[in-house]
Amino acid sequence: MSSLMVSVSGVRGIVGEGLTPEIAMNFAQAFGVYADGGKIVVGRDSRVTGALIYKAVTAGLLSVGCDIIEIGICPTPTAQLAVESFKAAGGIMITASHNPIMWNGLKLLGPDGLFLDAEQGEKVLALSRKQDLPFAAWDKIGVEVHYSHAVEEHLQAIVALDYLDIDKINQRRFKVVADCVCGAGAVMVPLLLRKFGCEMVALNAEPSGLFPHNPEPVPENLTELCDEVKRVDADLGLAVDPDSDRLALVSEKGEALGEERTLALAVKYILSRKSGPVAINASTSKATEDVALAAGSKVYRTKVGEINVAKKMREIDAVVGGEGNGGVILPDIHLGRDAPVGIALTLQHLAEFGGTLSELNASLPQYVITKDKVQLGDIDSEAALQKLREDYAHEELDFTDGVKILRENSWAHIRASNTEPIIRVIAEAPTGAEAEQFCSEIKTRF
Ligand code: MG
Repeated sequence: MSSLMVSVSGVRGIVGEGLTPEIAMNFAQAFGVYADGGKIVVGRDSRVTGALIYKAVTAGLLSVGCDIIEIGICPTPTAQLAVESFKAAGGIMITASHNPIMWNGLKLLGPDGLFLDAEQGEKVLALSRKQDLPFAAWDKIGVEVHYSHAVEEHLQAIVALDYLDIDKINQRRFKVVADCVCGAGAVMVPLLLRKFGCEMVALNAEPSGLFPHNPEPVPENLTELCDEVKRVDADLGLAVDPDSDRLALVSEKGEALGEERTLALAVKYILSRKSGPVAINASTSKATEDVALAAGSKVYRTKVGEINVAKKMREIDAVVGGEGNGGVILPDIHLGRDAPVGIALTLQHLAEFGGTLSELNASLPQYVITKDKVQLGDIDSEAALQKLREDYAHEELDFTDGVKILRENSWAHIRASNTEPIIRVIAEAPTGAEAEQFCSEIKTRF
């Protein structure tokens, strides 16, 4: 994998290799010019390189005349909300999301708290390549202030959601094992669980950035969490990624449900309370779509990427949506993937349901998703996708994002990654064997 990935959604790299302080500073300068020297909210996850990258970002923003509101270590959705509440010109979240410990990066936010879209991101990229950015004169450089209540405000916004009955959740006295992977979730998830009267067993709840395992909340990385749920006889387990926009659930039996179930459950719950359209990305489980259709909702599929889903949700006035990788988006609070919101909805859902999480999960349509990838090497991604279009021309195809092959009870989605030099091959079917078979059938075409 290349150690620096530059895309319209930001920059991500291995610190000291691809991502240097100069590059972070340059991007911050470009973003500051793009934001016309306005006020910028800056947050970061807990990575050990976060303080260093923050200083580079600070230098960049101040040098082009931006004022900075520094909100410290927090989830990405907290930064999104803070941009809105401060009526800032934009935001920078210093994080490499689910990437391992040696990575860091910048996620760029517009004045509405949404990620920049492709067109906006392209403008920042173009500015970053210019040699003559308009630096501020000595008496026009920006001012940096620190603000320490962003997480508390995010918590308050969640607790105030109409969907929640805090007393009802409190009565269940849920025993919850939370794995915050020593990421930014550690500064928020324990506080949230306390507000819901949960008995919390905290794993990796210091925001030290010293991730004790691969921080992507997929089942193979959650063995410690699953074991602990069984050991302490908890009602459920939950895991968030380092910037806490993705949420994965573990049942009371110690089974990782897989991130797709987080969104399917959240959509099922919201649609039991409110009707309206739903937007999800092209790779999201059919379980979510089936649940929404059964509730009478219209379902819109978008390109993968939070901003694509968020913009569609705004356009159609969606009641809920998100990405199947554990990214729940609830527009009542904001148009961004929000793991703490996902936790709150899961607890409310479980409190109303009355049974266990595995019973609740069993009430959803059952599918298995297999995610695979093809290393690109010398292969040109466009040519490879074009060949697939021709190979599968006799089947039902969708080109919303790359190529999606739709069969009666299964689908496969093939697209070039936005963040890595690979082609992702994802297939879903009623059983794991069928999904794997579909994936390997496609891989033989490359
Ligand atoms: Mg993330």
